[in-house]
Amino acid sequence: MKVSYHKILLQKRFPLKISRFVSASCYNVFVRVEKDGIVGWGESVPGETGAQNAEQIISELEKLVETNINDKSISEIESLSRELKISAGSYAGLDIALWDWKAKKANMPLHALLGLPIPKTKTSLTIGIMSPESVIDRVPLLFDNSTAKYLKIKLGSPEGIDADKIMYEQVLESSKPYNLGLRVDANGGWNTENAKHMIEWLSKRHCDYVEQPLAQGKEKDLKTLYENRLLPIFVDESCRYSQDIIEYSQWVDGVNLKLMKSGGITEGLRVLATAKAFGLETMIGCMSESSISISAAASISGHIDHIDLDSHYNLKPDPASGAKMVNGVTMPRISPGHGAFLTNENQI
Ligand SMILES: [Mg+2]
Repeated sequence: MKVSYHKILLQKRFPLKISRFVSASCYNVFVRVEKDGIVGWGESVPGETGAQNAEQIISELEKLVETNINDKSISEIESLSRELKISAGSYAGLDIALWDWKAKKANMPLHALLGLPIPKTKTSLTIGIMSPESVIDRVPLLFDNSTAKYLKIKLGSPEGIDADKIMYEQVLESSKPYNLGLRVDANGGWNTENAKHMIEWLSKRHCDYVEQPLAQGKEKDLKTLYENRLLPIFVDESCRYSQDIIEYSQWVDGVNLKLMKSGGITEGLRVLATAKAFGLETMIGCMSESSISISAAASISGHIDHIDLDSHYNLKPDPASGAKMVNGVTMPRISPGHGAFLTNENQI
């Protein structure tokens, strides 16, 4: 199997501010595998759960591929990546490419190869931390020409919960004409006291659920928050691998899977199965990803309760072609594999 790596700059139409940082652009690594005349595509994103930058992603994956992965199964290659301590965000690109290749080899869409239905749950679009004035401008830009029906609001502002409330009140007002379902992601920006207060406050203001109220590492405090909660609580940063779920399964309502945190589809499927085994709801989200890894995520989203696959809609431009919004659903192209590819291979 021939493996090659292509570093491409992704720029966001609107920079995204969350509780811990602002992201406007990043270099992602596109992983191309080729064997028997069939090409598979994957994508790795640097960041908190992966390598620091594109160069590190490439050197980590080269180390893994040098061990001769040719005769190994995808799960054997994944185990090897753990042994070699390849970061999850790096390995995700190879794992996605291998599954794309496998489904193309079988001449089946990836969702069908995995025995999953096509997705039917509508995605949310995301609005970062911003001033109320910016909310007034941004909400129509996102929803005027969109069939999306959910809005995820980033709170946990470094300026405190008063700033969160002012922003949320404006979102509530600006989103009324679009009849949207609202959900909040604090990205760990609250302490326990503020989280308790905000959950109660949001429960009276049409919020469906709250994601990652407490910082990663504060999972034990979820217990206090969970008792008598007025909204469902999901974790995101606190959930990377399936075995993480055991620690807090009694104190959350659901978990958010991201392929860049789990290291791709192989472990992603385990995260979903584990969450279901513990009776939890499931969500799938994304990082700064193009439609290549979004298409892989969309391909496994058929049984997932809440969908947040929107990063590729915010790229200027998306270097790839793949999953598109169809009646509010981020839908993979129905063709062999995950259905996405780099639009212009000459760009690599
Ligand atoms: Mg999140």
